[in-house]
Amino acid sequence: MTEREFDVVVLGAGPAGEVCAGRLGESGLDVAVVESHLLGGECSYYACMPSKGMLRPGELLTEVRRIPGVAEAVTGELDAAAVLRRRDEIVHHLDDSSQVAWLESRNVTVFRSPGRLDGERRVVAGDDTLVARKAVVVATGSSPLIPPIDGLREAEPWTNREATTAEEVPGRLAILGGGVVGVEMAQAYSSLGSTVTVIERGDRLIPREEPFASDDVEQSLREKGVDVMLGTSAAAVRAESGEVTVETGEGGPVRADELLVAIGRRLNSDDIGLDTVGLEPGRPVDVDDSMRSPAHDWLYAIGDVNGRALLTHMGKYQARIAADVILGYPTGCVNTTADGSRSPRVIFTDPHVAAVGYTLDAAQQDGLNVRAVDVPTQGNAGASFYGRDDARGTTRLVVDEDRNVIVGATFTGPEVAEFLQAATIAVVGEVPLDRLFHAVPSFPTRSEVWLYLLEKLGLAGPCGGPQRS
Ligand SMILES: Cc1cc2nc3c(=O)[nH]c(=O)nc-3n(C[C@H](O)[C@H](O)[C@H](O)COP(=O)(O)OP(=O)(O)OC[C@H]3O[C@@H](n4cnc5c(N)ncnc54)[C@H](O)[C@@H]3O)c2cc1C
Repeated sequence: MTEREFDVVVLGAGPAGEVCAGRLGESGLDVAVVESHLLGGECSYYACMPSKGMLRPGELLTEVRRIPGVAEAVTGELDAAAVLRRRDEIVHHLDDSSQVAWLESRNVTVFRSPGRLDGERRVVAGDDTLVARKAVVVATGSSPLIPPIDGLREAEPWTNREATTAEEVPGRLAILGGGVVGVEMAQAYSSLGSTVTVIERGDRLIPREEPFASDDVEQSLREKGVDVMLGTSAAAVRAESGEVTVETGEGGPVRADELLVAIGRRLNSDDIGLDTVGLEPGRPVDVDDSMRSPAHDWLYAIGDVNGRALLTHMGKYQARIAADVILGYPTGCVNTTADGSRSPRVIFTDPHVAAVGYTLDAAQQDGLNVRAVDVPTQGNAGASFYGRDDARGTTRLVVDEDRNVIVGATFTGPEVAEFLQAATIAVVGEVPLDRLFHAVPSFPTRSEVWLYLLEKLGLAGPCGGPQRS
């Protein structure tokens, strides 16, 4: 056992851990990162990046088929093998050497081993004990949750890891769970040629989003030939002769060549030595808004493992906050409006679902005095060039009537992911509605959706009033 001292030890190098380590290292601190698998974490290799690589070709083909002139030029189906080859390039063939180089160029020492806390400021990584002078940052992320369904584990289902690294497209794919991962993978595999069935216990897909977003995604998946079974639970699973059968009480058995489990995530906090510092293993590592544990002033937790927002961009945001707190920079201005469960989020189906802040229902449940205004996302001149007739979509703003600011926005429509940042700025910046009149969208862009939203709110005047209806 060798003992080595660093200013900061970061446990886990997914997007959150590596951003935090890099920021600390380039600011002059002596930093160690302990990573058991690949630097870049789940997002780079088995989640965000490969899934979007698998979705984009199908999305593009759907869009091209909507546009006269170019539709005639593209007549075939997707080349699934080529799509998977491009996906492999996007994930660098599971080679993290460029990320190792990025960290090492910032004075970060990489330990490739599982790591565990071992009492105050100490992390054990293989034969090394790393002692942190200033802080330990836990960034161990999350893993797929496998529910205790009879026969499920024995059937060796796919998780996001197999779904994003598969070399072949199964003829029939069953997906347990109609959340974000479930609907994205349903669309991706359907576009690559699988016959897909989604089994969802609840009465709608993507239940945390606005109901119209659930409806839009469900209708679109059905149009693409996906069998969406709502209100349906998996009671038991059997695997025999290369076929998986999911017994459902409600809808009869579902037979498939592969079964993907996409019902949620388990935080990687059960085997990282939390008990050695008096914290409960298996629970989210509780932190305050500076990402510091209320129990220990040297312990920080960022990314999925603190359970605040299981999204890469939020983990990276938390990483920058934690690094700046450790560096002693002022962070009193940290505005957590976009933090937690109401952070910006995009579902890359066709239509996209792009949302920030509250849904109407969530705002009302929190006791806010809100009203919603809806317009068609495609109801403007700019939309003549995108989507066209069969592209559905709604845009909703949720307005706090007491403060005259937007507290939530949801866009559904073709390729609306990039719309979201404008709404995020309005929500996080708490821009008064009257000011938004002066943020003039260019003609003919689909951003004119803002103009129609403000008009519908009765606010499309230079000084906000008089109220129009
Ligand atoms: C299919 C799918 C698609 C997704 N798409 C998106 C998307 O488009 N956009 C988005 O924002 N989010 C997306 N997410 C969520 C996103 O992947 C996670 O929020 C993000 O990866 C979390 O980053 P993290 O750094 O907290 O953890 P992780 O990425 O999970 O990284 C944690 C790292 O810690 C390491 N580790 C764990 N335990 C130890 C240990 N004891 N010792 C050493 N190392 C350890 C792991 O090997 C891993 O590298 C998606 C998730 C899934 C499953």
